[in-house]
Amino acid sequence: MNGSVSLVGAGPGDPDLLTIKAVRAIRRATVLLVDDLVGDGVLRYARKCARIVHVGKRGGCASTPQAFIERLMIAEAQRGEHVVRLKGGDPFVFGRGGEEVEHLRAAGVNVTVVNGITAGLAATAALGVPWTHRDHARGVMLVTGHAKEGGQVPHWPTLGAAAAQGMTLVVYMGVAQLDAIVAGLAAALPLHTPAALVQDASLPHERRLVSTLLRIAAQARAEHIASPAVLIIGDVLCAVSLPRVQTTLARSA
Ligand code: SAH
Repeated sequence: MNGSVSLVGAGPGDPDLLTIKAVRAIRRATVLLVDDLVGDGVLRYARKCARIVHVGKRGGCASTPQAFIERLMIAEAQRGEHVVRLKGGDPFVFGRGGEEVEHLRAAGVNVTVVNGITAGLAATAALGVPWTHRDHARGVMLVTGHAKEGGQVPHWPTLGAAAAQGMTLVVYMGVAQLDAIVAGLAAALPLHTPAALVQDASLPHERRLVSTLLRIAAQARAEHIASPAVLIIGDVLCAVSLPRVQTTLARSA
């Protein structure tokens, strides 16, 4: 039996942002394992008879242990099923896709990866600014604000220094640590540096907060900005047409 596994990027939420290759893989799937941050609209492309397994932790359930998910993918592929593992954004951007590919290959399972639009890209598009703009930035760094248990958190002053040198910072999983992140960055960055948060990028309830390093943490609290959100730091935000120092909380129509 020749089953397969495909790690498919479901994008930031809006099903219109799926790639054609992702839609084809979803249509072909006989088993779908669906992560937390995958928008419901994405599943409209699944076959009626496909088995859909939600493995995320939202909705009050504990998240399915990673080892169980990997064992399930291997077992289903070995039974000849076409397994699609749907992951939010891109499978290889903070999505544990790398670990899954390693384990699947070690078990002799054929695995392919389909890119998705990562949340950080959708967030800056929502603000109407690029990651890089040659007048404002020389590069971009994608950073996690959350270390795995026992892991190392980023050294924020070093990243602040990189931002001062023209690197746009795009921070995933940073909302809960916002105060610590801002304090660390401020060791190397002026407090008037533009900073923004985009929650639920690409979805109808998307929210955008444009501010400065000095004010963003207090404003995010006051406005109840919550996960999933991406934090963006850097002068590319100068290109935002909204007033920069004043908080602007905008909802998409
Ligand atoms: N693989 C995913 C990232 C997974 S890590 C990707 O490429 O996008 C989970 C983090 O992604 C969240 O904590 C949040 O920082 C970010 N995220 C995911 N979906 C988002 C969305 N629609 N809007 C804003 N941030 C999002």
